[in-house]
Amino acid sequence: MTKHLKEYAKKRDFAQTPEPGDEEAGARSGGTPVFVIQKHKASTLHYDFRLEVGGVLTSWAVPKGPSLDSRHKRLAVPTEDHPLAYADFEGVIPEGEYGAGTVIVWDRGTYRNLRAEKEDDGASMEEALEEGKVEVWLEGEKVRGGFALIRTGTGEDARWLLIKLRDGEADARRDPVTTEPDSVLSGRSIEAVQEEEG
Ligand code: MN
Repeated sequence: MTKHLKEYAKKRDFAQTPEPGDEEAGARSGGTPVFVIQKHKASTLHYDFRLEVGGVLTSWAVPKGPSLDSRHKRLAVPTEDHPLAYADFEGVIPEGEYGAGTVIVWDRGTYRNLRAEKEDDGASMEEALEEGKVEVWLEGEKVRGGFALIRTGTGEDARWLLIKLRDGEADARRDPVTTEPDSVLSGRSIEAVQEEEG
């Protein structure tokens, strides 16, 4: 287990939850890194935004989900790193367990680090996370284009914001969170998964 997944493992009882175990870390072979956005109906509905970095999924919980309107700043609360195998997970986390509730794969695909591509920048994802200034191009089924994850404030006041970059994929009229609510993996709604697997 990588040190990054200690917190993930500590929070979970793998005899109880159907979530992937930490031993499945690194299950995916290298190549183009993946992103996933999981819709998670826990005590409150939110969207878990995850980027593959260094063999794990760096994660944030986004209460409102992503917006394609570049004027919107969506709060993104950092959460523990998840194993790569988590990108395929949908199911029901039993009551009493950490994150109890239903998870679907709302969107997923690959991404590019835009900062690494800039000649006058070249920051790796690790550097970008450290600096609190991530810029990625997402190639999902619902969500495409450039997105920034920006850390503002320091210490207790630190917070991350998920913001659509101004590019050809920005679209203030489209709101896939509302119009495309179901899983890209199984086509199921979160209610259907809850009913079938709960
Ligand atoms: Mn969650």
